[in-house]
Amino acid sequence: MNRLAEKTALVTGAASGIGLAVARYFAEEGAQVILADRNEPLLAEALVAVRQITPGHSAICFDVTDESGWRDAITQIEAAFGGLDILVNNAGFGRFLPIVDMTLDEWRSTLAVNLDSVFLGTKAALPLLVKSGRGSIVNMSSIRGLVAGPNAAAYCAAKAGVRLFTKAVALECAEAKNGVRVNSVHPGHVETPLTAPAYAKPELAREFLNHTPLGRFAQPREVAAAILFLASDEASYMTGAEVTIDGGITAQ
Ligand code: NAD
Repeated sequence: MNRLAEKTALVTGAASGIGLAVARYFAEEGAQVILADRNEPLLAEALVAVRQITPGHSAICFDVTDESGWRDAITQIEAAFGGLDILVNNAGFGRFLPIVDMTLDEWRSTLAVNLDSVFLGTKAALPLLVKSGRGSIVNMSSIRGLVAGPNAAAYCAAKAGVRLFTKAVALECAEAKNGVRVNSVHPGHVETPLTAPAYAKPELAREFLNHTPLGRFAQPREVAAAILFLASDEASYMTGAEVTIDGGITAQ
């Protein structure tokens, strides 16, 4: 309990799946959580759920690919809370198509949501995280940022971009001695509303599980646990690291 006491945390994509599990876990551990998402009704429901854990918390509805949305969100956070200690750049989605069928718009929007958003969020939040003196950024990548898969070129390119972006910013912050740590997480197959349609197909689910040494899908809270650790002061010597939460997939 209270591993995030007196910390303010912004979590993107917090209305669903892994982001919601992170928001819940952070609240349980004493953080003041700001949930961000572009899905307003789902975000309102998520805020109610997190407030049932502990009072307080707030929600900001914006699209993480929009630079002015980020600017406004950070201005609001500074005015309301006076600072920010943790940023979890989690919002994202997968688009799985053969490359010849993918339009340039689909390519660009996949990179915008999964990669541009991480740049925009980092840039916007960094001054407040520096002011905190013990800031932490956790960026959502995927095992698809470590090893490729067919029909996932744009998603793989975006998530691999998140991996090295994370390391580059970690080194920049270390060199500046600004107290901000930056790490990435790389989940395998996690049961969320994003993956539910695919996992509902028995043949596809069997194929995924056959390649997963632990033989089951992850629950969002199992990913949130790693994010919580990286966000907390317990990970004070971790920066530029990549943490896989994949049931052993990439160990093979
Ligand atoms: P999800 O669809 O359950 O939740 C994602 C949330 O992000 C949604 O609430 C959605 O509204 C929000 N979002 C999407 N685009 C947005 C935007 N432009 N602006 C603001 N909010 C936006 O998905 P999830 O499975 O929880 O995935 C969360 C992250 O984890 C994603 O980055 C995904 O790529 C990554 N990931 C998921 C898995 C998995 O198996 N589920 C595996 C590896 C990585």
